[in-house]
Amino acid sequence: MLDKLLPWQQMLWQQMVSNKKLAHAYLFYGKKGIGKYLFAERLAHYWLCLSPVHEQPCGQCKSCHLLLGSGAHPDIFHLMPEDSEFIKVNQIRALIDFINQTPQISPCKVVLLEPAEALNLNAANALLKSLEEPAGNSRLILVSHQIGQLLPTIKSRCIQQLCPLPKQENALLWMGEALPDLTKEQLSQLSMLAGNAPLYAVELHQQGILAQRELVVADMKKLLKQQVVVSQVAEAWNAIPLLVIFDWFCQWIHTILCFQVTGDKNTLGAEDMQKVLGYVADKSTPENVRQLQNKLLQERQKVLAKANLNRVLLLESVLIDWINLLQAR
Ligand SMILES: [Zn+2]
Repeated sequence: MLDKLLPWQQMLWQQMVSNKKLAHAYLFYGKKGIGKYLFAERLAHYWLCLSPVHEQPCGQCKSCHLLLGSGAHPDIFHLMPEDSEFIKVNQIRALIDFINQTPQISPCKVVLLEPAEALNLNAANALLKSLEEPAGNSRLILVSHQIGQLLPTIKSRCIQQLCPLPKQENALLWMGEALPDLTKEQLSQLSMLAGNAPLYAVELHQQGILAQRELVVADMKKLLKQQVVVSQVAEAWNAIPLLVIFDWFCQWIHTILCFQVTGDKNTLGAEDMQKVLGYVADKSTPENVRQLQNKLLQERQKVLAKANLNRVLLLESVLIDWINLLQAR
């Protein structure tokens, strides 16, 4: 549980542990997959430790033993979505009960809440009071991947701390240690697909993203050459999460529009799709590309909201629109 601090978080750690005047509620935010929760968890361990050493949790005291062992520490409370994608108001009631107790082992109590954007409206409102006036020496850490989705009333009650992204070379170094079997090229590809967020890259790798990307790119090329039909492609992509496919299409469309405006080949993005995107950009009109962009963004919202979608039909219709881009000019 107490792994090494992630290399790109060293400075933030120093900043947090040297701060003698701690706030009662923090909001750690930033891109998904850069280790925000690990950082928050480590900070919680540090605060709960009975005798920290060199500004780190000691790993030896009763508190550290509990945290490193069974994890059943009475002074820490993890709050995340349980049976749905939301954190609900009854979970906040349990949190308030926890906050109202006095610490049993440690000098304080800590609440870790992730992701904060999962708070539904009632839960968020129920949490406000606890964020404002903490009882029983408690500290709250909220973690958010999408701070824009949080209520202003939640944000304003926390110290907001942006968590750092690693530099690309450091991300690749860390990923290379985590995934020693991958080649340099595979690591760069993975890093690109994860937007340079290393922990997200590892997660994507475990979901088989490299093979999925290869399949999708190959099919996109075959589609242009009319070697496959859309129904085959939609079928072949059956195991790939819809959101992944939509994110890629949204990026591609955005890339095409940039290229149509600038004519600069450097804007053509990820190498595996450069030729395809350059070709489509040449053969299509910006108006039609923008139309498809609108459609993709709308449908992506539905995918995000987990609406009941007919996956194959939806993919087929996007692919047909994609092919039709070529006939517009
Ligand atoms: Zn300790």
